[in-house]
Amino acid sequence: LPLAPPGTTPVRALTIAGTDSGGGAGIQADSRTMAMCGVHACVAVAAVTVQNTVGVTGFHEIPPETVADQVRSVVGDIGVAAAKTGMLASTAIIDAVVDVCTELGIGRGGAIPLVVDPVCASMHGDPLLHEEALDAVRTRLVPLATIVTPNLDEVRLITGIEVVDDASARRAAGALHDMGAQWAIVKGGHLRTSERSTDLLFDGERFLEFDTPRIPTGNDHGGGDTLAAALACALAHGYSVPDAVEFAKEWVTRCLEAAYDLGAGHGPVSPLW
Ligand code: PLP
Repeated sequence: LPLAPPGTTPVRALTIAGTDSGGGAGIQADSRTMAMCGVHACVAVAAVTVQNTVGVTGFHEIPPETVADQVRSVVGDIGVAAAKTGMLASTAIIDAVVDVCTELGIGRGGAIPLVVDPVCASMHGDPLLHEEALDAVRTRLVPLATIVTPNLDEVRLITGIEVVDDASARRAAGALHDMGAQWAIVKGGHLRTSERSTDLLFDGERFLEFDTPRIPTGNDHGGGDTLAAALACALAHGYSVPDAVEFAKEWVTRCLEAAYDLGAGHGPVSPLW
């Protein structure tokens, strides 16, 4: 993506998500990705997680009105060309975020594209969303998405569909579109039966497949956040959704290739310094 010449104002994007004290995922992955993609990152913190490379041991939710105020504050002053949501933790925060985004023209029906990464749990199963908030994800958050980016666990929790092959991936993408997402991408990266990482993109009419080699690494913490943040960057730069997906897949592949060991658990995808 094009970098702004030194001293000139870059494109801006907003992440509304949770922090990772281990510096691998969440807002840290988003801000790093945005910086590396030549995008100034505005940040609305929705939750503070207590986590390291081994796992998430707890989180603290920011009051919903403070989350919404952060969004209002930066969009009014700085202006953003795209936004993404990550960990939102609770129904009350989802409601506040959907309301403020709707008010400001962020998301489907507005001028500012919104990438919804419907974060439910870490890839090792530590919860990042209260279970009762799944209903708000289905009925409020997914319908606001320009593009929704669930992994296969999130697909199962949100749609009830267990993706095991291309036909079930297509059904799941259809279900997410029926819920109201403009575009849905079903990420096949966690389907470990394949040598390839194939993602399926659907807009209600056509299915597009994006295929990259599977990168064997235990250091993939923050991969989903990085993909969604790279998508938001490409959309902020004016890419179409399919072109943004192509860019973001390539970006994550390079980050996975450069991932490094950290701590006793799973290291992060590399920020590509
Ligand atoms: N922590 C936060 C704040 C996140 O947003 C996420 C993922 O979305 C994670 C942790 C989990 O990351 P991973 O599933 O890559 O371990």
